[in-house]
Amino acid sequence: MTMDVAPIEPKTEGAKRFLAQSRRRMLIADEWVDAASGRTFDTVNPATGVVLAQVAAGDATDVDRAVAAARRAFESSAWRDMIPAQRARLLWKMADLIEQNIDELAELETLDQGKPVWVGRYAEIPGAIEQFRYFAGQAMRIEGTTIPTSINYQPAGKKVFAYTVKEPIGVVGAIVPWNSPIVLTAMKIAPALAAGCTMVLKPAEDTSLTAIRLAELMVEAGFPPGVFNLVTGLGEAAGAALAAHPGVDKIAFTGSTEVGKLIVQAARGNLKKLTLELGGKSPAVVLDDADLELAIPGAANAIFFNSGQVCVAGSRLYVHEKVFDRVLEGVAAYARGIKLGNGLDPSTQMGPVVSRKQADRVAGYIASGLSEGATAVAGGRQLGPAGTFIEPTVLVGAKPTAKVVREEIFGPVVVATPIRSLEEVPAIANDSEYGLAASVWTQDLSAAHRLAAQIRAGTVWINCHSMYDATLPIGGMKQSGWGRDSGHQALDNYLETKTVCAVI
Ligand code: NAD
Repeated sequence: MTMDVAPIEPKTEGAKRFLAQSRRRMLIADEWVDAASGRTFDTVNPATGVVLAQVAAGDATDVDRAVAAARRAFESSAWRDMIPAQRARLLWKMADLIEQNIDELAELETLDQGKPVWVGRYAEIPGAIEQFRYFAGQAMRIEGTTIPTSINYQPAGKKVFAYTVKEPIGVVGAIVPWNSPIVLTAMKIAPALAAGCTMVLKPAEDTSLTAIRLAELMVEAGFPPGVFNLVTGLGEAAGAALAAHPGVDKIAFTGSTEVGKLIVQAARGNLKKLTLELGGKSPAVVLDDADLELAIPGAANAIFFNSGQVCVAGSRLYVHEKVFDRVLEGVAAYARGIKLGNGLDPSTQMGPVVSRKQADRVAGYIASGLSEGATAVAGGRQLGPAGTFIEPTVLVGAKPTAKVVREEIFGPVVVATPIRSLEEVPAIANDSEYGLAASVWTQDLSAAHRLAAQIRAGTVWINCHSMYDATLPIGGMKQSGWGRDSGHQALDNYLETKTVCAVI
């Protein structure tokens, strides 16, 4: 493992210009405003600990203003009567604008979040662009059905004509986390606006900068004022106020299971609709016939990509005992070979985790794993000038009851465990309160598809892990959430079905 954390300036003029304005505002009804309280909070470069900007600390008052703006926009004819093709054009324009500014956005994301710049540039931001393009198309396929009924008591000579129409749910509050901000934000904005809703976005406090830049691009794309609003701020202030607001019809949340449960409580007041994309503790299972050339780097990437800050990260690695030693040594060697550093250095393979708080949390989990009897065969240390780097870490010997096996760590830490047979895989894989994702590595097609059916997870990958596409639903069973993002059915998260039944 090598590491180089020299401070690096962004290269793009856009990122330099954006950072020159150190006080950042929120967007309400197309106006850039400070928090009503005047308060701000610092956003910090996790690689260096340097403050990048002061961001408006919105609270309940600002949420009120933003929700009122979204409601006015929802009821305005400018948005309500806009034909689907025009909504599609605006979403497509947004995709084009993101594409035109991709290098700047990638640099801003790296500065604020820490990830290697190539992760944003070549994986996550292209993924965000595809969300906008995919849902631009979906905006024009919102359809009801005509329904032949069996109602037999209509007046003589009359017929029943029944049909459904799909209508936008109304004002959406979107609350997103810090691990992959641009693409997770796109996964909320694109379907919500394709469906004809209006919205208030609350980004994570650790990563507000690209949300602010995206809001600028939303204005440039030409959405009517108030259709998209941005309230930055802390979760317990701005996020909680949005989740509880009686004027919000639906919350689309991505974040931890713990906060997801708070959102459920907050939403009770007006029984607002919810979709919850929550945490995971996903198994990666390597069977004895797996192609290890694929499985070893695959299992390593499943956990170390984005410093393990991936909801679907393969954090529980189960390997058949016949190949356990080879896979363990392969994944450990991969971990030791990863170059840590400032994400703006193009040779960096892994950046810091998002904040000192998160690094301390991950380090606490490693310490707990070791104290509960596990051994680190790679990594284990917390490093860097701001204490935000965690070495890619491979633990073995943890009991099934250990915290590192049961709880989501959300850092570059994998627990490897041998298994004896194919038959025990479903019970081991399903031994978790989470059910977000899993991967199975084998050349036996029938074993792969039988396990895909037996594992209780929203996604099962075969001979791969963390493969996303705008067409593929993503979300969890059990305590990993309610509903799915991505894929055409995500549109239904933002639509109500109205039944019209007429005697004609
Ligand atoms: P978090 O739950 O701490 O925060 C998520 C968002 O909720 C942030 O914007 C935060 O400000 C806000 N928030 C915090 N407290 C709140 C409250 N009381 N009321 C309303 N909003 C509040 O999560 P995080 O640490 O930012 O992100 C990591 C988590 O997100 C992990 O658990 C990860 O698995 C999950 N995640 C899930 C998916 C998925 O698709 N299932 C994708 C990415 C991340």
